[in-house]
Amino acid sequence: MQASLVDVEVSVGGGLPRTVIVGLPDAALSEARSRCRAAISSSGFEWPQHLVTINLSPASLPKSGTHFDLGIVGGILAAHGSVAQGRLDDAVLMGEVGLDGSVRSTRGVLPAVLEAARAGIGHVVVPMEQVREARLVEGITVHGVGTVRELAAVLRGEQVPERLPDVVPIGTVRREPDLADVAGQDEARWAVEIAAAGAHHLSLSGPPGVGKTLLAERLPGILPDLSSGEALEVAAIRSLSGLYVDGVLPRRPPYSAPHHSASVAALVGGGSSIARPGAISLAHRGVLFLDEVPEFSPTVLEALRIPLEKGYVELARSRAATRYPARFQLVVAANPCPCGYHGLAGRTCTCPPNAVRRYRDRLSGPILDRIDMQQTLRPMNQSYLRKAMRRASEPSAAVAARVAEARARQLHRLAGLGYLTNAEVPGPVLRHELPSPQGIDLVDTAVTRGLLSARGVDKVVRIAWTLADLAGSAVPRTQDIRAALAMRRGEDVAEVRCG
Ligand SMILES: [Zn+2]
Repeated sequence: MQASLVDVEVSVGGGLPRTVIVGLPDAALSEARSRCRAAISSSGFEWPQHLVTINLSPASLPKSGTHFDLGIVGGILAAHGSVAQGRLDDAVLMGEVGLDGSVRSTRGVLPAVLEAARAGIGHVVVPMEQVREARLVEGITVHGVGTVRELAAVLRGEQVPERLPDVVPIGTVRREPDLADVAGQDEARWAVEIAAAGAHHLSLSGPPGVGKTLLAERLPGILPDLSSGEALEVAAIRSLSGLYVDGVLPRRPPYSAPHHSASVAALVGGGSSIARPGAISLAHRGVLFLDEVPEFSPTVLEALRIPLEKGYVELARSRAATRYPARFQLVVAANPCPCGYHGLAGRTCTCPPNAVRRYRDRLSGPILDRIDMQQTLRPMNQSYLRKAMRRASEPSAAVAARVAEARARQLHRLAGLGYLTNAEVPGPVLRHELPSPQGIDLVDTAVTRGLLSARGVDKVVRIAWTLADLAGSAVPRTQDIRAALAMRRGEDVAEVRCG
């Protein structure tokens, strides 16, 4: 996420013809020698018939990847006199070269250009396909090159015609799935709305086919737009993951739903020499959905614990330690048992009793500890479903408007304390800095009766605040506390809501 500028120095002359790269390169980078040499020759330039020394400084910084190719080629062309040195003094070059002299896209262009602009560099040369990505950064001139010949032209100060890929800007046009497509399940829709309004982590449970995934996919669609700063972070992570970044900042919160067979590396990030971002970082500022969460390996779930607490993940690899942001809203879904039909009228669960208990136990521990709200979805009977299909479900836009209002109330209340959402407010602040909710004695009673853990108390109060924000009430009312208690414990809230 934070790029470092690397100086590429090229010296030609003295000694037998060979090429040396110094400055802590890894294996892929050492291969740059062969790639750059072939690319220069096939572009009609000459590779120097002398000792060529390429120094990448600072030498103390471990270097990895193929994106130094373009800088090395530029250095050779200048050292050999094919182009003038001048332009290179004020330019950052980034890109991989092919043996045929083509210039290929590379990971991490956006964070690199951000750093170049911050350092006051005037020009940046990037692969043609990534011009739009680089232009997200203001205050620096972006040149796109598709070949080594075009690089030479840019370094001579000539204009290179731009051939940008035809794309529909995803950030503006992509349609998010809409809540209007979900029939019935009013209570679960309400839970998703509350989760969105207060940024609470949510668990959805119920038999297969009741709409758990449908609802989870629709959560990002009712969240507020990202700020420019957040959007840049999201785009930078995509860039580092090698995903396409277009010329429009992604204003909608991302959604990441890794499969339960995902490895620790796929989930939290990994890689051999320098770690790449994983699914949790691709969900940064958005939603991470874990479907069939008990099927995830316990090691994978355990790896989520620290990122959930800190909002970032630290990955130490052989060559470097990296830190990627990972502040996401977690939604998990689970069936009641491995076969999916335990406790369901009209269906027979085929699981051995032990298996049901083991399955549920897997949900406990680090993840369940972090979940604020639990919602159970029941299959809808045919007549109800027919009725539900007839009346139109409320569209996401209407729900998003209420969420935005509730978020604005939180912002107003919490601004002085330094928080944005109810979910972020730490227990002590909740207890001592904010007014006490009405009916708080209900919570005390639940603790005394052993129905709620001490940790659960703060979660209940946070949810109650969100309910108050959605209702436009200045403090949580007794009915908010009652509903929050039910949601925390995964009870039926239908009658509570009506009462
Ligand atoms: Zn079963």
